[in-house]
Amino acid sequence: MTDCIFCKIAGGRIPAEVVWQDEHAMAFRDIQPLAPVHVLFIPKRHLETFAELADGGGAVLLSLARGIKEVVVSEGLTRTGYRILSNNGPDAGQEVLHAHIHLLGGRDLGPMLTETKG
Ligand code: 5GP
Ligand code: ZN
Repeated sequence: MTDCIFCKIAGGRIPAEVVWQDEHAMAFRDIQPLAPVHVLFIPKRHLETFAELADGGGAVLLSLARGIKEVVVSEGLTRTGYRILSNNGPDAGQEVLHAHIHLLGGRDLGPMLTETKG
């Protein structure tokens, strides 16, 4: 996708602080971090939602899981903990329509959602 910001990062066409990558996936620091550690994990090929990741036959999901495992260690979050989340579609406020997983840590992250209403 030529006009997708995360495809441009994956292709090296716009800069990002890359902290991990393999053949299928990569991780880079969020430009507007919400915690001392805020890293985004993306598939290198354009997929819009988390649900579409399964279309990659499992290889992309395995890469993402391995990447998260490695970055949790390299960012020093093993003992203190972390949160991973993925916003998908309008109800979740997904801004970038290229599937991604946020890794947040380095402080007390508070409740899972700001509202308690179910
Ligand atoms: P979403 O709301 O779609 O789950 O999250 C998109 C995230 O991408 C936001 O946290 C935003 O700060 C981050 N982001 C948007 N554009 C860029 C960019 O050009 N570079 C980096 N590193 N992060 C970006
Ligand atoms: Zn894309």
